[in-house]
Amino acid sequence: MNREEETIVAPATAAGGAIAVVRLSGPDAAALCDQFFRGPAPLAAARGYTVRYGRIVDGERTIDDVLATVFRAPHSYTGEDSVEISCHGSAYIVGEILRLAQAAGARMAEPGEFTVRAYLAGKLDLSQAEAVADLIASSSRAAHALATGQMRGGYSAALEELRRKLLDLTSLLELELDFSEEDVEFADRDELRRTMESIRREIDALRNSFSLGNAIKEGVAVAIAGAPNAGKSTLLNRLLHDDRALVSDIAGTTRDVIEEQANIDGVRFRFLDTAGIRATDDRLERMGIERTLASIARAQIVIHLLDATTIAGGIPAPDFPLREDQTLLTVVNKTDAAPALVLPDEAIGISALNGTGIDRLTRALRNSIDTEGLFHGDSIVSNSRHFQALGEALQALDRAADGFRNALPPDLLAEEIRGVIRALSSITGIGAIIPDEILSNIFSKFCIGK
Ligand code: GDP
Repeated sequence: MNREEETIVAPATAAGGAIAVVRLSGPDAAALCDQFFRGPAPLAAARGYTVRYGRIVDGERTIDDVLATVFRAPHSYTGEDSVEISCHGSAYIVGEILRLAQAAGARMAEPGEFTVRAYLAGKLDLSQAEAVADLIASSSRAAHALATGQMRGGYSAALEELRRKLLDLTSLLELELDFSEEDVEFADRDELRRTMESIRREIDALRNSFSLGNAIKEGVAVAIAGAPNAGKSTLLNRLLHDDRALVSDIAGTTRDVIEEQANIDGVRFRFLDTAGIRATDDRLERMGIERTLASIARAQIVIHLLDATTIAGGIPAPDFPLREDQTLLTVVNKTDAAPALVLPDEAIGISALNGTGIDRLTRALRNSIDTEGLFHGDSIVSNSRHFQALGEALQALDRAADGFRNALPPDLLAEEIRGVIRALSSITGIGAIIPDEILSNIFSKFCIGK
């Protein structure tokens, strides 16, 4: 039997809940369950979308009272016959059901194998399958919107539209080949160049959306930079104050540097560790400064925190390097201790100690992330594999544009454009053959049972 024809089984829920779900998928899913499920009638005879109450038994011994939901191909997540057994959430019960299912002939599923099957059955394209994992990991409204948009296929549709335009280009060029003896040009070169330029702009826009998409998915990195005693720790505590409970136990947030997270109006922000700045001796001080500079380099937003009692001479320029793609927020702290100080409009006056101005600061943080398009269904790239493929598509497109300029023969031109199509197709897997190792690389990051 092919591996794809085997019936697979896996727990679909994490340990510790009141209810657990064990999932089976494959041609024998229902008949196989009948070997250890006792209900009013065999599951093998049940229609799709029916739920049966019954018992899981091991010979004479009852393991649990359960509900079994039957799905019939192709109307299931995997596109195959499937059964989902909802049992009590005991690790022992789940283990027993898995054991019985394997004794009856099922095989334990590999990570992401249910979704692989959904992909192979054409239920999802590759980028939609990847969005399933993003959806499970999403921990903010924006990350959720990003994943659902991609999962529902909005992004795939945009890519398919581009692919169709490129295919039209190649077929025009190939038509010329058929008539090459007669030296005709069906494809008006100016028109073609314009089309290619507009396709280039679209791919470029998608590629550029990655910095937003990635920030939303991973959390927007913020560094708080300022002299010792400016109030960085006090500000951080203030920013995290309202959100502590929410941020403390998001899975997978442990990284190599210390950072705290806060959800501000649907977007997750990661405050990078800049605490190393308070140093007592030279060596420590140097390490602290290096660490701060590294945090600033990784940040999308840098809060330049100044102490109101030390800036009577005006706002100093930042004493750290900034890139063009970074947002600088100039924030003056301890305004409570310098009531006479008048600030320029662009500076945000706060008191981290008593909370004044914090609203304006969180609004400025939130406004520096433009989610307007995201919530209105724009295609936004958040996957680094896609980002890379779009880069390859652009390179191939530039080669094709060179070809145009140098009056390359139509067959060679068409080949360059096919390179663009291949790069785009690798994102969704539509119209492309995706090598096994890329598939297993994508799906190995999934959890068991998904
Ligand atoms: P850091 O070294 O930049 O992390 O600074 P801290 O957060 O440890 O603050 C240094 C000192 O400034 C502490 O004594 C704080 O209580 C004080 N401080 C922080 N924010 C304010 C503020 O808004 N107003 C006043 N008056 N003092 C503040």
